[in-house]
Amino acid sequence: MIAQLDEVQNRNGESSLSTRILSGNAIRDQIYGELAGEISSLAAAGIRPGLAAVLVGDNPASKVYVKSKIAACEKLGLASFHLTPPATITTEGLLEVIHELNRRDDVDGILVQLPLPSQIDSKKILEAVDPAKDVDGFHPMNVGHLVAGRPALVACTPAGVMEILKRSGIAIEGANAVVVGRSDIVGKPMALLLLHASATVTICHSKTRELKETIRRADIVVAAIGRAGMVTTEHVRPGATVIDVGINRITDAAQAENFFAHFPERLAEFRAKGTALVGDVHPDVVNVAGAFTPVPGGVGPLTIAMLMSNTVKAARMRRGARPAAAVSSRH
Ligand code: NAP
Repeated sequence: MIAQLDEVQNRNGESSLSTRILSGNAIRDQIYGELAGEISSLAAAGIRPGLAAVLVGDNPASKVYVKSKIAACEKLGLASFHLTPPATITTEGLLEVIHELNRRDDVDGILVQLPLPSQIDSKKILEAVDPAKDVDGFHPMNVGHLVAGRPALVACTPAGVMEILKRSGIAIEGANAVVVGRSDIVGKPMALLLLHASATVTICHSKTRELKETIRRADIVVAAIGRAGMVTTEHVRPGATVIDVGINRITDAAQAENFFAHFPERLAEFRAKGTALVGDVHPDVVNVAGAFTPVPGGVGPLTIAMLMSNTVKAARMRRGARPAAAVSSRH
């Protein structure tokens, strides 16, 4: 079980030993350790799992994400293929790239970095990926398998959240879980995974009435909203587990003063750099929650870890190798 019992400062400057900081970095390292064993047994059988990353155009954030994914492949000894079609490519042109990757036997996983340029029909592209190589878990066939609770490649971020919860010993069965956000990438698959783990799940979104009251009933809150610090201490029942999926870059000094009023080190860092990453949960929630994922260093590291896990799983399934039971959210 990985969960640090960290000393945190509450808003009166007093120390509290009651909040568990759920470290995504530690859980990622544990998963990498398990994958390394699995990758060497595949290597002994002559199999080297391979991931193809398709990065269209020059979006700087996308470039950073793809770079980290390739670096993770290299760290684990997976083969990686980096394809960089120009920003001007047509849907038909990109479909050809995907079809070629579908045909290649050395490619087990295909990831198309989103967002795609506006002239591209993104749905058509994601649906063209062979479901057996769909390591992002976005293909309707994999989504359908997830709905039905059948073995599938599951979207990486929600799968990573399940690893955090399970490996930290957070009780899910029978818990009231509130997922804020209903995107195809995070909110919906998250809700399904929690449901399959026997939580009682509520999904909230921008039209939800009584959002605060609904979140306050939760034993487990998963925030995947895309709005910096939207979930505050007023939303969270004392002792609840709070999982913050959000990644928001702030540059506004007043906003930073608000977020980091009780975190002088983070405020000093913001003043030095002029920018900081914050989640969808206000940092003060650490003083109310029973367990809490920090941003950065919480959910983020798990997304790439689960991409690696899905690539190994796809290689194993596609090439008929014997399954291993290391990473628990493979179902
Ligand atoms: P998204 O597609 O924009 O979806 C946001 C969801 O939040 C929508 O369902 C939206 O409701 C809901 N929402 C927006 N404003 C709200 C409000 N005021 N009250 C209640 N619900 C509200 O975003 P996403 O792709 O799911 O990503 C969510 C966050 O997670 C972002 O910060 C993103 O950067 C981050 N993320 C992190 C990782 C990671 O690796 N850690 C991976 C993926 C995403 P409607 O449906 O009604 O519009």
